[in-house]
Amino acid sequence: MPTNISWVTNLDGTHGESWNPLVGCEKESAGCKLCYAKTVYERFNKGKFHHGIRLYENRWITPNKWKKPRAIFTGSMTDWFQPGMEKGHIHRMLNTVENNPKHQFLLLTKRPYRMSRLSWKRPFPENLATGVTVENNEVLEERLFQLELTRSEFKFISFEPLLEDVSQQLEKYFTDYEWLVNIPNWAIIGGESGQGCRPMNPQWVANLINILESHSIPVFFKQYGGFPDPRVTREFQGKTYNAIPYWD
Ligand code: SF4
Repeated sequence: MPTNISWVTNLDGTHGESWNPLVGCEKESAGCKLCYAKTVYERFNKGKFHHGIRLYENRWITPNKWKKPRAIFTGSMTDWFQPGMEKGHIHRMLNTVENNPKHQFLLLTKRPYRMSRLSWKRPFPENLATGVTVENNEVLEERLFQLELTRSEFKFISFEPLLEDVSQQLEKYFTDYEWLVNIPNWAIIGGESGQGCRPMNPQWVANLINILESHSIPVFFKQYGGFPDPRVTREFQGKTYNAIPYWD
């Protein structure tokens, strides 16, 4: 179904899609506290989001039906690499990506260790962009390192929800691993939204954009966040950071 997630954008600038044959997830780290998927699921369904992974068999073929090329967020309501995800489901997802080369699929995980290992057993399709969430300094090194080890054509980092200033740690990572690291292709930055959200300091964003731009990483600034949402804006300090490089 069409998604409102602003960084999932079709070639013609229209909204892309989210594709969720599997729904459900366990919390992994601090960024999961106000899990958006949980909020959405529990608003429209009975039962708890965190109680198991549900399979919607009829959704597997949905991408085959879309005739025009689409940007497709695969697994916006789950994490493909959580421990409880059956290997067969992941391979089925990869088969669908492979069989639909006209679409650009985007996958985001907070468990990149399993992703990187799988990518060495089964090379990922070229039309799959792989991303990791980095919400704080605690997870930064391990997630970026595993992203680096992932065999994938296009890699991105989602700094959302950005919970603290990670710019120094990011610069240190790039310096420490200079011998190894290929600079990621893209970065998304966003603050947390919803009731009880943790505010994002604009200075953290400014520092982060500075580091990213110094490494020529295109930036997409998604939102400040907030609740209710007066600070949800696509502008940061008078400028719109709108990079969508996965179609290039
Ligand atoms: S990994 Fe993603 S989907 Fe899973 S609980 Fe955390 S925020 Fe929610």
